[in-house]
Amino acid sequence: MLQFSDLPALIGGISPQQPAVAVAIERLLLDSRRVETPAASLFFALRGPQHDGHRYLPELYRAGVRQFVVEAGAAPPGGLAAYPEAGFLVVDDVLATLQTLAAHHRRQFRLPVFGITGSNGKTIVKEWLAQLLSPDELVCKSPRSYNSQVGVPLSVWELSGRHTLGIFEAGISEPGEMVRLAEVIQPTLGIFTNLGTAHDAGFASSEEKVAEKMRLFEHVDTVFYCADHPLVHAAAAQQLPPAARAAWTRHRATYAAGEARWLVSIEESSADRTVLRMEEAAAPPHTFTLPFADAPSVENALHCLAVLLSWPALEPAEIQRRLARLQPVAMRLEMKQALNECYVLDDTYNNDLAGLRLALDALARQPRRLPRTLILSDVLESGLPEADLYARVAALLPASGVARLIGIGPGISAHHQAFAGLQTQFYPDTPAFLAAFRPDDFRRELLLVKGARRYGFERIVAALQQKIHGTVLEVNLDALVHNLNFYRRRLQPGVKLMVMVKAFAYGSSSMEVANLLQFHRVDYLAVAYADEGVDLRRQGISLPIMVMNPAPDSFDTLRQYHLEPEIYSFELLHACLAAARQAPLPPVHLKLDTGMRRLGFGEEDVPELGALLHANAALLPVASALTHLASADEPGHDAFSRGQLAAFARMVPRLEYALGYPILRHALNSAGIVRFPEAQPDMVRLGIGLYGVEASGQEPDALRPVSTLRTTISQVKTLPAGHTVGYGRRGEATAHDRRIATLAIGYADGYDRRFGNGVGEVLVRGQRAPLVGNVCMDMCMVDVTNIAAARAGDEVVLFGEGLPLIELATRIGTIAYELLTNVSERVKRIFVAE
Ligand SMILES: *Cc1c(COP(=O)(O)O)cnc(C)c1O
Repeated sequence: MLQFSDLPALIGGISPQQPAVAVAIERLLLDSRRVETPAASLFFALRGPQHDGHRYLPELYRAGVRQFVVEAGAAPPGGLAAYPEAGFLVVDDVLATLQTLAAHHRRQFRLPVFGITGSNGKTIVKEWLAQLLSPDELVCKSPRSYNSQVGVPLSVWELSGRHTLGIFEAGISEPGEMVRLAEVIQPTLGIFTNLGTAHDAGFASSEEKVAEKMRLFEHVDTVFYCADHPLVHAAAAQQLPPAARAAWTRHRATYAAGEARWLVSIEESSADRTVLRMEEAAAPPHTFTLPFADAPSVENALHCLAVLLSWPALEPAEIQRRLARLQPVAMRLEMKQALNECYVLDDTYNNDLAGLRLALDALARQPRRLPRTLILSDVLESGLPEADLYARVAALLPASGVARLIGIGPGISAHHQAFAGLQTQFYPDTPAFLAAFRPDDFRRELLLVKGARRYGFERIVAALQQKIHGTVLEVNLDALVHNLNFYRRRLQPGVKLMVMVKAFAYGSSSMEVANLLQFHRVDYLAVAYADEGVDLRRQGISLPIMVMNPAPDSFDTLRQYHLEPEIYSFELLHACLAAARQAPLPPVHLKLDTGMRRLGFGEEDVPELGALLHANAALLPVASALTHLASADEPGHDAFSRGQLAAFARMVPRLEYALGYPILRHALNSAGIVRFPEAQPDMVRLGIGLYGVEASGQEPDALRPVSTLRTTISQVKTLPAGHTVGYGRRGEATAHDRRIATLAIGYADGYDRRFGNGVGEVLVRGQRAPLVGNVCMDMCMVDVTNIAAARAGDEVVLFGEGLPLIELATRIGTIAYELLTNVSERVKRIFVAE
């Protein structure tokens, strides 16, 4: 076992202080929020543009972490003396040290290891290959898509002496990165999935990108790839010795020229299966059937098939049996509403220790204050003796708040004594659980359903999911974080970020969004009304919260929940002062009107306001002054906007002078952040941009859509020529027959009536279909004459990817804000994250 005192010799650095008690290092820790086994952890204080791990040393030390890798020159807060029992390793580059340590760990094991790279499909190929080979191999693989400079070392750290195969993916975004990953993974086998055409900002050309990716395979025996990707093929020919090239092709000419080992021909392709023939020199051709037909899945499966055909001692009939069991990989963790006010976190694809840890992390981060229940299958491929394994699983549970465990499988059942102290039930297999299943056994709980593929836990999720009305608003939390980071990158150093979560977080549900923002450490939240702030506090949000429209009678509530009011009039100020005389209030925010002419103190009010603040300086702390631009998104009004910013810059110093101390200044909303980068005083207020709408129009492709509104087709009818559809006979009669689909959504769900009669469009099977007739209260109709495959039960997108909010809003003369906030509360929200 690795000891702290071994580190300098192994990975460099100097150690000015040793831990008081040395504990063998089991866990590499990068995130102060993920402490599990503090004493056995080694924390790496990574530093990035938005983040500095050194800041969390005091918190980690309090949590019991005693072993730290820090950067030379970045003194730990308080100096070493503040951590008397801790050991420090001081290095020049913390990330490089993490990688060196992982590379050292990798060298302890001799086993075949796959390195997988390429633009798309890495994670699916990795999961499938692990599934296809795991009957014979004990596989260690990257959890989810841990393929970065940080994720790869953490993945490789999981290797143990019992594993017989490693499968790790490597993703890069800049030249020079692959060599570092290759040193950590030390692959002996390789798969290059494909090369996307997407423009990659980090590379000068696609050739440079492919050459860099190929560097993963510099010391590899065999690389599997498709010779039909010209750039991949060319790079392989240039960078790999002939014996290492194991390509497949769809083109007989390529095969005949000896440039590929396998020739693939598709013999049959129907809606849900593909029959293909693989020819390989000298051997009789084999026919295989894949249980799907879409092109990306077929390509991913072909990479796996090439590996299986080269794998020692695998008969074609056995390969076929394994291929038949392939299933789509759920790339993201979905949170679903379920029966009796339960929520289900659905993670039913695989179940190894690393994946379980990630899923439990996700469970711990869920904001809902409901009791946590874990439904868990046997944990496979840990490489540990079972008694150790289940002891480790049991040790993971308290940190994520699991109080009840339902274990399914012979392994976990046999080790039930490891879970003493929890409420437990055990079943030998999934059918036994389902036979005993009673809906009343589950009520107001948050359930994590985590099972290895072969346990078929999707049947459990189906049993738990309440029959919900077919319309949902899907909120993609990864897209939200992507958008958050886009705006963060635009902030000048030190500028704080307030995020507007008013109006139910622009329709997407304030609680989940606020919780995610708290996790990502934004500085402030803002809501419109005190009630919204109270809800957030009750759900455990501890960030500072500004309330924009505090009612004069809400001061007691504001005080009780520590909500900071915005003061926009003398009347409100006097009410506030009166309340502050009773008992101290949280700090307030002064709203200055510089041109919006809605709420706020005007420039002419500054003398009186200053005098009042001065006279009551001890009574009423002021946190900030803000103003709001009337037309931040319209270049035509830039002169006006700059006038507003100038007025703001004149007013605030006079208030600060009266108060006798400086206060935060903020003026910019989402569009303003993009359009006035030079005017970011101390803080900005991000709103619609977080939710995926780039209101300035200047960066149309920078954001990802966050919300997708979907429903289902209830029925499809053929409408004879000359007939109309719906109320008021408004759906126009035409000269030919039409197919009309009725959708399970109407204006009571928040779908705007103005979309009726051809104004709006929806997506059915990826194609646009126009509305016909009026939008009704609970349903509406679309014309699917041109979408022959449309059927009852099909999913329909009302807005989201492929149907942008801005376009739809323009069609009915409104703005994206209105479409987002109109989605009614009866529409279920589903949250997804990768
Ligand atoms: C809603 C709001 C914002 C955010 O505006 P977006 O255009 O959604 O970015 C900023 N400031 C105030 C005062 C607001 O009310």
